[in-house]
Amino acid sequence: MDVFGLLGNPVGHSLSPPMHDAAYEELGLEARYVTFEPEPSEIEDAIDGAEALGIAGLNVTIPFKQDVLDCVEADDLATRIGAVNTIDFTGEGAPTGHNTDAVGALRALRDHGVTVDGARAVVVGAGGAGRAVAFGLADAGATVEIANRTASKARDLADEVPGATGHGLEADALADLLADADVLVNATSVGMEEDETPVPADALHGDLAVLDAVYRPLETRLLRDAAAVGATTVDGAWMLLYQGVEAFERWTGREAPVDAMNAALRDRL
Ligand code: NAP
Repeated sequence: MDVFGLLGNPVGHSLSPPMHDAAYEELGLEARYVTFEPEPSEIEDAIDGAEALGIAGLNVTIPFKQDVLDCVEADDLATRIGAVNTIDFTGEGAPTGHNTDAVGALRALRDHGVTVDGARAVVVGAGGAGRAVAFGLADAGATVEIANRTASKARDLADEVPGATGHGLEADALADLLADADVLVNATSVGMEEDETPVPADALHGDLAVLDAVYRPLETRLLRDAAAVGATTVDGAWMLLYQGVEAFERWTGREAPVDAMNAALRDRL
């Protein structure tokens, strides 16, 4: 029996257990995915303990994604993003740390026919998700503009992301950035609690592909506005799905049963 899991606090509402369990069932794997809620002061012990117990892989969520960097051998992308969301214990030597949010966003876009290489992309948000998406898009060949409510955070992030520029979230600036953009990613939490959008509807156009990282609700106001002007829309569950797919494939070396994982996820949203 292989054991995988999620480290976070709290983890009660996580969609990862049903998504990964659906994959094990579909492929007939003897495996379980369980959740762990260590205290923040115990995170290093938790990872040492997981290794000692033979746990094969862990996802990591709030509030541990940054702390875990110091406890594993983080790869180059996770180090640049400054956050680990996947730990792999299956190799020889120390556990390795990865960030599959970046790849999750890229695979979500590509799955909807979006070409990222050479695209002009606007990332709204410069928190954890914004960092992952900005580095992921730039590595994949996009030119990245970062817009954030706290403009200094966008400019600081843009200094780290090759070719990127940072901006505030003022409506005029956003409209200018989006006028000739191909891809827009909302990586803020706006749209989660209230029916609000970080991007005015009149700045959107039909040649855009719009990915909203928010997945509760699935249909955010931003995606409704984007659909209304004929843009390609990609909801946040696709990003969540593909970060899980990426972790599954890294841990097991098997091709993930994407349809079964997607169905399990969407059943619960
Ligand atoms: P975070 O690190 O706390 O960053 C929050 C971001 O939202 C910051 O850029 C913040 O701007 C911005 N923001 C918050 N309230 C705002 C407001 N009222 N107006 C404008 N901007 C506002 O959070 P995170 O981890 O990046 O997560 C962001 C969202 O992405 C969440 O909804 C999360 O669920 C989602 N997410 C989805 C996936 C997925 O797989 N689909 C993965 C990761 C995250 P300031 O810097 O100015 O505060």
